[in-house]
Amino acid sequence: MTASVTQLRPDWGFPDPASRRADFPAIPDGWAYLDSAATAQKPQAVIDAITHGYDRDYATVHRGVYARSADMTVAYEAARAAVARFIGAGVDEIVFTRGATESINLVAQSWGNANVRAGDRILLSQLEHHSNIVPWQLLAERVDAHIDVAPITADGRIDEDALIALIGPRTKMVAIAHVSNVLGSVADIPRIAEAAHAHGALLLADGCQSAPRIAVDVRTLGADFYVFSGHKLYGPTGIGVLWGRAELLAAMPPWQGGGAMIETVSFERTTYAPAPGRFEAGTPHIVGALGLHAAVDYIEHIGVQHIDAHERCLARAAREALRAINTVKLFGPDDSAGIVSFAMEGVHPHDIATILDESGVAIRAGHHCCQPLMHVLGVPATARASFAVYNDENDVARLVDGLARVRRIFG
Ligand code: PMP
Repeated sequence: MTASVTQLRPDWGFPDPASRRADFPAIPDGWAYLDSAATAQKPQAVIDAITHGYDRDYATVHRGVYARSADMTVAYEAARAAVARFIGAGVDEIVFTRGATESINLVAQSWGNANVRAGDRILLSQLEHHSNIVPWQLLAERVDAHIDVAPITADGRIDEDALIALIGPRTKMVAIAHVSNVLGSVADIPRIAEAAHAHGALLLADGCQSAPRIAVDVRTLGADFYVFSGHKLYGPTGIGVLWGRAELLAAMPPWQGGGAMIETVSFERTTYAPAPGRFEAGTPHIVGALGLHAAVDYIEHIGVQHIDAHERCLARAAREALRAINTVKLFGPDDSAGIVSFAMEGVHPHDIATILDESGVAIRAGHHCCQPLMHVLGVPATARASFAVYNDENDVARLVDGLARVRRIFG
C-alpha cells in the first residue's frame, strides 16, 4: 500500500505531509481525518489570525475614525485583495458572503430577479449540491422559469456534450459544480462557458471543492460568477466569496438592505454603494475575513497545484486499494480530484463510517447534500473519503485497514 503511493508520488517538492500535519493542532497523531470536502481543519496560522483579530486588533470596519478601526479596515480590505489575487480577479469583484450557499442565493436573487423572466431556462446538472439547486428552484418559482438538468456519464462526470446540447435561446444561466463534492470529477468550465456565452447565457461555477485544491484563474475559467466557502479552504466558517465579472456586479441591484451598502439614505430616496459594498449589508464577518486571508496565504505558500497533485495521488491510491476489495463499488472517474465515494455490498455507509470512526478514521457517510445524484447513482447514500494537504499514505492505509474490519464485522 505504502509502496504504491510512494511510487505514484512524483518528485514535485511537496513538503513532507507529516510536517504539514504539525501545522494543524486539531489533528492528533493517529487520527485519519478524511472529511475535508465537508470542512477542512485549520492551520495554526489561521487560528492565530482569528485570535489576534479578537484579542489584539479588534474594532469595526468602514466606520470608526480612530486608528484601531482604520487599521482593521485596512486589514479587512487586504483580505479582499488577497482573495482577488488568489483567483486572478479584480479586487472590486470580490464580495464577502457567509459562504458558497449565500453567494449562490445572492446571484439567484439579485441577478436572477433582474434578468430571468417567465419561460426562461436555468441549466443545472445531476451532480449538483443542494446549494446549487434550491436557490435556482426558488427563483424559477418566483418568475415562472424552468430548470433543465444535464445528465452525468457512467463514470461520474457531467455529460458535457449533453449539457451543451441543452443550452438554448431561453437559457439564461448555466450553474454547475467545478468539482463534484461526491464524485471528485472536474468539469471543463472554459468549454461550457464558451457554449453558454454563444447562446447569450451566463455561467456560474460552484467552486466549493475546486478553490481548495485546483489552481483557479477566473479569467481563464471563462465563468461569469465563481463562488466558494472559506471553511473548506482551511479558513473559518461564516465567510465565503462571490466573484462576479465587474460589469455584471455593477448592473446588479442590492439583495439585502442595511448599513454599509448605501451611499445616501433619506425617506424619499436611497442610493447604493458600488460593488462590492452594495452586496455587503451590515457589519461584516471582520475576523472571518482575516482568517480567510491567512488561509489563502497558507495555500499560496505551499502552492495549490502541489496540493492538487498530492491529493490526486492519494485519491488514486485509495481507488486502487478499494478496487481490490470485491464488495466495494467505487463512484466517480479514475482521474478524480482528491475525493473518493464508495459503497460496500450489504453494509450501510453509516455503519461503515461508524466502524471506521472506532479505528480513528473520519469519513463522511450520507447523501452529501446531493439527493438527486444519489437517485441517479441508485443508492441512498455513499461513504466518502476526501483528502487535503495534511493527509498522507498512512491515512489511506488506515482507511483500507478499517474497511477490512468492516468486512470482518459484517461477515
Ligand atoms: N457546493 C458544493 C460542491 C459543496 O461541496 C458545498 C459544501 N458541501 C456547498 C456547495 C455548500 O457550501 P456551504 O455549506 O459552505 O455554503
